Amino acid sequence: MIRLAIPNKGRLAEGARELLERAGLELESRGERALQAALGTDFLALFVRARDIPEFVADGAADLGITGRDLVHESGRPVETLLDLGFGRCRLVLAARDDAGVASVSDLPDGVRVATSFPGATERYFREQGRRIELVPVSGAAEIAPHLGVADVIVDLVSTGSTLKVNGLREVGTLLESTALLIAREGLSTGPAERQVRELKAALESVLRARDKRYLMANVPRSQLDRVKQVLPGISGPTIVDVLDSGAWVAAHAVVDARDVYRVIAELKELGAEGLLVTKIERLMP
Ligand code: AMP
Repeated sequence: MIRLAIPNKGRLAEGARELLERAGLELESRGERALQAALGTDFLALFVRARDIPEFVADGAADLGITGRDLVHESGRPVETLLDLGFGRCRLVLAARDDAGVASVSDLPDGVRVATSFPGATERYFREQGRRIELVPVSGAAEIAPHLGVADVIVDLVSTGSTLKVNGLREVGTLLESTALLIAREGLSTGPAERQVRELKAALESVLRARDKRYLMANVPRSQLDRVKQVLPGISGPTIVDVLDSGAWVAAHAVVDARDVYRVIAELKELGAEGLLVTKIERLMP
C-alpha cells in the first residue's frame, strides 16, 4: 500500500477529499476519528494536520501528500512536487498598519518586530532582503499583534484581503502565492511505485482538466455545418451525429472552455440551433 497523507480538517480537507472522489478514488467509509482509511486498491490515506504533511513526506512516514505550497515552503524540507491541484488559493503576505506609513519592505527599520505563524518562510524572506528582524511567533490570529503593540508588522495568509482590512492592516509585500499541491518523497516516482504514482497523477490531472470545460450539444441545421465547425472547435473538431428526421438537422457535440459557453450558445442560436444542452465533465483524458 502506498501511503497518501491528506489534511484531516481545515481549509484543504474538503477539497482534497472531493478531488480524490472525483478521480474515482473512494475513501472507504470511516468513523469521524479514524486516522487512516483504504483509498482505492493501491493507496492508504493517512489523516493528519496539513502543516505536518511536508515533514511526514520528507521523512518517509508517508509516500505522498496533499497540502499547501505555503506549508511545503515553510517546512523547508526537500519533497518533490508532482502536481498543482489548483484549490486552496491564498497568498502569504507582509502587512503593516494602515497608519504606519509603510509602503514596502524597504521602509522597515532593522530589528522590526514581525508576528507570524510562518517563522521559517519569514526568516528566509527577510534574510534575502538583507533585513534583520525580531521574530514574534504566534500560532494564529497574527492580525491582532500590531494593535497589541507586540509587533510592528505581520506575515500571514490572505485570500480576499478582507480580514486585513477589517483589522486596519495593509499588504506591503508578497512572500508567496499558494495552492494545494500533490507532493511525493524524493525518488518515489522513479522507484517501485512508479506505476501507481503515474496512474494517480493521471487520474487527478483528468479531473483538473475537466474542471474548466463543459460538454455542449445542440441540434443545428445541416446547411450551417461549415459555420458550426468554426463556432465549435472541440478538441479535434466537433462530433456530428445524424438526427433521424428528413436530414435537415444534425446534432453537434463538443468540449468547450467553460468561459466560452455563453458566447458559443449565442453564436449557435444565431445559426438556428435548437435543443442546446450544456453539461459538466467528470474527467477528461486527451
Ligand atoms: P488549516 O490551518 O488546516 O485550515 O489549513 C491552512 C492551509 O489552508 C493554509 O496553510 C493554506 O495552505 C490553505 N489556505 C487556503 N486558503 C486559505 C486562507 N484564505 N487562509 C488561510 N489558509 C488558507
